[in-house]
Amino acid sequence: MSVKGMTCGKCGSALVHDTLTKPDGSTVHIAKCPNGCGKIKSPMCCGQDMSCAV
Ligand SMILES: [Zn+2]
Repeated sequence: MSVKGMTCGKCGSALVHDTLTKPDGSTVHIAKCPNGCGKIKSPMCCGQDMSCAV
């Protein structure tokens, strides 16, 4: 689950931006792998309102 910048830590593909809408209506910007490896909160992780998605 290492991510360098905006590159997938698993397959090395450039991550794409996406936005999650949480049940409370707030949105969270994330980056996700186009190959489906997973989603990474961007730019922060494990320090905000959600736990790490990886
Ligand atoms: Zn990937």
